[in-house]
Amino acid sequence: MVKYARCNALLSLALDASGEGCRYMSKADTEDGVVEDMSKHLVSMHQVDANELVANIRATTKTTRK
Ligand SMILES: [Zn+2]
Repeated sequence: MVKYARCNALLSLALDASGEGCRYMSKADTEDGVVEDMSKHLVSMHQVDANELVANIRATTKTTRK
């Protein structure tokens, strides 16, 4: 089982480094891991305050089988 969240579920207009819609997907074994990884991505790639998005990250985190 893997937890994952998509950047574009959080920031629908986010663009990646090449100006395309951001398709970054954060995966981890735990929801906390997803929050941590996605927070780093949001700060470094999109310069947003990840603390304000933690609840949204958790709300959009899904679970899948490997
Ligand atoms: Zn992104």
